[in-house]
Formats: sequence, C-alpha cells, structure tokens
Amino acid sequence: MRLEDLGWGQHFEDAFAAHRVAGLVAARVLREQRGQLTIGHADGESAAIVSGRLRNAALSREELPAVGDWVAVRLDPSGGIAMVEVVLPRRSAFTRRAAGRAEETQVVAANVDFVLLVSGLDGDFNVRRIERYVTLAWESGATPVVILNKADLCGDVPARMAQLASVAPGVETVATSTLTGEGLDGLRGLMRPGRTLALLGSSGVGKSSLVNTLLGRDSLKTAAVREDDSRGRHTTTHRELMLVPGGGMVIDTPGMRELQVLADEDSLERAFDDVAQLAAACRFRDCTHEAEPGCAVRAAVEDGRLAPDRWESFLKLRRELSYLARKQDRHLEAVEKARWKNIAKDIRRLYKER
Ligand code: GDP
Ligand code: ZN
Repeated sequence: MRLEDLGWGQHFEDAFAAHRVAGLVAARVLREQRGQLTIGHADGESAAIVSGRLRNAALSREELPAVGDWVAVRLDPSGGIAMVEVVLPRRSAFTRRAAGRAEETQVVAANVDFVLLVSGLDGDFNVRRIERYVTLAWESGATPVVILNKADLCGDVPARMAQLASVAPGVETVATSTLTGEGLDGLRGLMRPGRTLALLGSSGVGKSSLVNTLLGRDSLKTAAVREDDSRGRHTTTHRELMLVPGGGMVIDTPGMRELQVLADEDSLERAFDDVAQLAAACRFRDCTHEAEPGCAVRAAVEDGRLAPDRWESFLKLRRELSYLARKQDRHLEAVEKARWKNIAKDIRRLYKER
C-alpha cells in the first residue's frame, strides 16, 4: 500500500521525520472497535493499540487516535499487535462530547478533506439545518460540499439551490438521485486518490446509498443483503475508513452519524425563536418555563400572546431532544466501558506474552 494512496503528504511527512529517526513507522487508523485499532501502512494492515506512554501523556481524549488519524507506530516484528506511540497533528477533526466528564470531547473522524452534507430534496429539506451543518464542517477544518439527494422527488431543484446560496456562500452544491443516477458523476468527481471524504446528514436522506455509489457497490444488492440480515444495517455498525476502487477514501462511522444530534441541539431555539424572544424577559436567565416565578413565557401562554399548540409543540420537541441527549450519553458510557475493559485485557495479555 502506498502511503500517498492513504492520504499521506508533506504536512504529515514534516511532523513524522523525527519519529522515523526513532524507528517508528507511519500508519493511518482505518478502523476503531472497542479500543482495538486497525492501521494501514506501507506493508499492509495491522492490529494496533494505544501505547501506555501515549495514553498517560494524553491530556484529554482528543489526543488519542481516532479513525482517519495518521500515527507513528512501533510494529511488532513477529506480526503481533502494533503500538501507537504518537498521533501526528491533524489537518481536520470532527469532535463530539465524550461520555463521562462533561467538558471532554473526543474525535470521531480525523483528516477528512471533504465532508458531504447530505439532505433530501423531499420533506427533509431544511435550509437552517444545512446552515448548521456547514458551520460544523468549517469548524472541523474539512471543506463542506452540500449534497441535495432525492432530486427525483423535487419539482424545482434550481429554486432549492438558490435558497442555499445565502446560507452556504461559496459552498459547492450537487443535486443527486441514487434512483435516476442524476448528479452521481459529479459526486464521483469529488473523489481523488489520497482524498478522504465523510458524510453527514439525518437518517434516511440516502447516505448509505451514496456511499455505495462511491464504493462502486450496487445499492440494490446491498439493500437485498440488508433485508436478509436480521441484525439490520451491518454496513453502519462499525467505524471504518474505506478505500474506494480507483482511489480515495470514505469515512463512515457511527460517530459521524451521532453528530447529527449535536447539529440539532440548538434547533429548539432556532425553530422557536418566538419562545426564545419571550424567554429573554424571564426573571431567571436559565428559566425552564416550568414553575419559576417571573416566567415571561408562561405569562404569554396565559394571556394568549403565545398560542397553546405552539407552546405544546415546543414542550414536545424539548422532551424529544433531552431524551435523545440522555440516550446518547448512556450509549456513549456503555461503549466507553467496553472499550476500556478491552484495552485492559489487551495490556494484560501483552505483558503476559513478554
Ligand atoms: P441513510 O439513512 O442516510 O443511510 O439513507 P439510505 O441510503 O438508507 O436511504 C434511505 C431511503 O431513501 C432508502 O429507502 C433509499 O432507497 C431511499 N433513497 C436513497 N436515495 C434516494 C434517491 O435519490 N431518491 C429516492 N427517491 N429515494 C432514495
Ligand atoms: Zn421562563
């Protein structure tokens, strides 16, 4: 495997030179599953774990390797587990809140060059949400491209494109349909040898179908396989950096999918800016509008300035969002526990073997 095909370049070469002298090898993290890494390097793929030294030196979870990271590793000459000693400086990173300590974040995908922000041109189309995704993308360091999928379901694609011009100025926008094939050449045209793409977008907008297109897989076949697979969508259950035939890579991780919730976190305020404006007059700045004295929102409901059904749908969305957030936290905690248990096991085994 040529490192260039995995996205290696001068930026990483500069950072790696000193580690090469120390006998370490450059590798890219292709997969991460419960703390077990799969890395790709000049001689192929290896299993790897984070070295004790790196783990101890890391000031936060963000400094530990994630899918897409370039790392300096010590390969095991007899083909055993490699040790990741250093994470090379990232060119871009998508982060999310980590389980456990509240302030901590973790990286879910690193060194993504282009992030495809996928929306459906059906009922899913929402300019504000796309705007939040674009912000999220620029913050990560990756270049956003807006993909408007399901073009076959939209009567006026140019009008939708025009709507986006103001919230995503200068961002390339491609209308696609995995059904009719419209725009798919434009999508494939974003792929280059050594380039890493990731996808972000709500469930059901067609991300898997688009990934299949990029990978040259037949999406119909995949759908059939899925129906047979009682555990459902096996394509989405593990974190992966996948090599595209003809060059380029796609990162498809559950972590990227969970960022969706983050992008939606402020959707309550955005969608209910009338409530937010009323709330500015509440006595307490952190008023939940439940039972606090001096609540301007409840006052507005009582005297009819805020319609009851509007208030109801605000409460409903708020409940949903807090449920999602709690669910995400619990999920992350469980994943985290399993991860550390595995690492501890690996380390014990490693020491036994010596
Ligand atoms: P994901 O949840 O974002 O990965 O979305 P999927 O790729 O699983 O697609 C969700 C549904 O939308 C599936 O039933 C697809 O067949 C359908 N779909 C995907 N792309 C298109 C498209 O371009 N047009 C239409 N009409 N349906 C599509
Ligand atoms: Zn209030």
